[in-house]
Amino acid sequence: MIEKPKEVIKGAWSLILGMAVTIKAFFSPVVTCQYPRETLRISPRFRGHIKLVEDEETGRPKCIACGVCARSCPSESIKEVEGEKREGEKRKSVTKFILDFTTCSQCGICVEICPTGAITFSADYNLAGFSREDFYFDLVEEFYRWKEKRVESR
Ligand code: SF4
Ligand code: SF4
Repeated sequence: MIEKPKEVIKGAWSLILGMAVTIKAFFSPVVTCQYPRETLRISPRFRGHIKLVEDEETGRPKCIACGVCARSCPSESIKEVEGEKREGEKRKSVTKFILDFTTCSQCGICVEICPTGAITFSADYNLAGFSREDFYFDLVEEFYRWKEKRVESR
């Protein structure tokens, strides 16, 4: 060490510089979040997979199962739309709405074309699965699952 004083000074200087960076970072504002324990607020313009919109009067999806969205989808991602007419109601209510999210490009045509404003984009960004089938969603089932969760969290 005594034989190489220049190297000692160089090493000590490099240590000081390194510590300066660490100390500066320590006192800087935090810009990361502790995902998954914490999540960030998603921009309202974010496009997750499509989801069904609730009719506030009935509490059910607004969708009337007309099938316009499925016929207009350029990727044929809306695989099945089924509905039934309930007694005393003029329009059908959707009972099944299968989305193949593996082919959906989130183009928004279905959202724009729906005559009842029954579809919107979800803010669901952290989807993961082991197979393609994990990304085939029945949006009706999902609608009620989310609704249940909303009620439980109140
Ligand atoms: S989401 Fe809209 S366009 Fe698609 S089937 Fe339902 S009502 Fe028709
Ligand atoms: S967002 Fe576009 S690609 Fe996806 S289901 Fe709707 S129309 Fe099809």
